[in-house]
Amino acid sequence: MRISELLKTDEVTISCELFPPKQGAQLDNYKKIVGDMAALKPAYMSVTYGATGGTSDYTVELANEVRNVNHIPALAHLTCASSTKEKVASVIQELKEKQIENVLALRGDIPQNADFPLPNQYKHASELIYDIKSQGDFCIGGACYPEGHPEAETIFEDLDHLKEKVEAGCEFLTTQMFFDNNILYNFMYKALKRGIDVPVVAGIMPVTNASQIKRIVSLSGNMVPPRFLAIVDRFKDDPKAMRQAGIAYATEQIIDLIANGVNHVHIYTMNKPDIAAAIFENLSDIYVRE
Ligand code: FAD
Repeated sequence: MRISELLKTDEVTISCELFPPKQGAQLDNYKKIVGDMAALKPAYMSVTYGATGGTSDYTVELANEVRNVNHIPALAHLTCASSTKEKVASVIQELKEKQIENVLALRGDIPQNADFPLPNQYKHASELIYDIKSQGDFCIGGACYPEGHPEAETIFEDLDHLKEKVEAGCEFLTTQMFFDNNILYNFMYKALKRGIDVPVVAGIMPVTNASQIKRIVSLSGNMVPPRFLAIVDRFKDDPKAMRQAGIAYATEQIIDLIANGVNHVHIYTMNKPDIAAAIFENLSDIYVRE
């Protein structure tokens, strides 16, 4: 199923994210995680590409497991900064063969100490989106940054480039994580004023251990509200309490989003079905699954 169809309705959707293994020997374990996550009946499941400790080698295979084994719509991420156009084309071909129709098209982080872009590389996600569109009937999503992408001088410059992605054929956007919903509401207002009117899926990261937060802030430059920092300060040395507080915080963020009309939420579940299950349970009368 095309994700753009799911996002057209006012029904609440909650989706989950997985990352693929580094080595093929781990595939069976990861497939079990897919099955456990699928049992929660998320609206769709995304599989990252070369991010958060995984590689790109098994993204399509795991997306195949989501779509064709567990029968949940799959969203395969695809980045281009570390690949040639030929490599990207071969992944697109694989996606077609597996009938995976949804792609989150990303530039990816620019590899350090590399000449970028080489002549046979895409420079921006918008170029990749345009090319994927020309290579098949895909439903394409893109990334957006409520606090601005770290490389952009201003949020307005970033929004101009975001508009280029939508004009290139991006049918929905998934946000970078944020910990204060007002940041998202401000962003959505600014985006709409610039004519960016595709559905925006709010990305929520349940922070369930204290080390995560340092990494998140250093990688993405996220603003962390004092209310959230107080939780980390209070519970960081008590893993069970930190887990519970992180799940409660993410749940509260999601409820506030839905109450304010943001009906589509993507949880950065980081291959942790137990955390996803706890949040789904907290939302069992809000996100009702058959
Ligand atoms: P772009 O849209 O190309 O933007 C990158 C920067 O370039 C921005 O500052 C933008 O304003 C600027 N820009 C864009 N177009 C132009 C232009 N024409 N001229 C000048 N400047 C321009 N990374 C992974 O490696 N694997 C993943 O699976 C992955 N999944 C992600 C999922 C989500 C929801 C998000 C939010 C991020 C994800 N990332 C992933 C991280 C992402 O790859 C990085 O944030 C990367 O630095 C930017 O990718 P992008 O697609 O947003 O790039």
